[in-house]
Amino acid sequence: MRLILMGPPGAGKGTQAKVVAEHIGVPAISTGDIFRANVSEGTDLGRKAQEYMDAGEYVPDEVTNLMVRNRIDERDAEPGFVLDGYPRTLAQVEELDSMIKFTGHELDAVVVLTVDREELVQRLLQRAETDGRSDDTEEVIRRRQEVYVDQTEPLIDVYRDRNLLIEVDGMGEVDQVTKRIFGALEGVHES
Ligand code: ADP
Repeated sequence: MRLILMGPPGAGKGTQAKVVAEHIGVPAISTGDIFRANVSEGTDLGRKAQEYMDAGEYVPDEVTNLMVRNRIDERDAEPGFVLDGYPRTLAQVEELDSMIKFTGHELDAVVVLTVDREELVQRLLQRAETDGRSDDTEEVIRRRQEVYVDQTEPLIDVYRDRNLLIEVDGMGEVDQVTKRIFGALEGVHES
């Protein structure tokens, strides 16, 4: 099964991607986590990504695309994957299409988590206190939300037009949201 989890910063993509991926037996691939791991290990990729991440901007497509391509080529992703944080631009959508086509498979569904704007800010400020992520300051959070609206929200229409979109209410407890996602995925069959 090949799934994308989408939603604005703070929607709970990362949390849900891990649970869903485990449930269907495929890896959860989080571009944010891979970038952060590279930043803390001080790799070339980390050095390229850090300034963008700290400003709340997207890392350039060519850097992100290559990283995802390499990750999807790994053996554990052969039966599928849950993508968290990718694609985020129209150029990344095209790139992902070509990566999946190359494997002879298709994308099965795109789950979008919807959460009130006010709740999103509260969650991110809360996370700032508990996790200490360098991009969870009020100013950078605001910038990340703008970038999401400008560059990533248009992808929702693209996937809706392809009949791949599943909108799931992301408000409430983590477990409740997980149940809603599982319920929504029952109708999805691997192509
Ligand atoms: P969030 O969605 O909560 O903002 P993530 O952990 O998913 O956080 O991503 C953190 C940062 O990593 C983003 O703000 C961006 O700089 C970078 N990033 C992650 N995924 C992508 C992507 N697909 N394209 C470009 N940049 C990305």
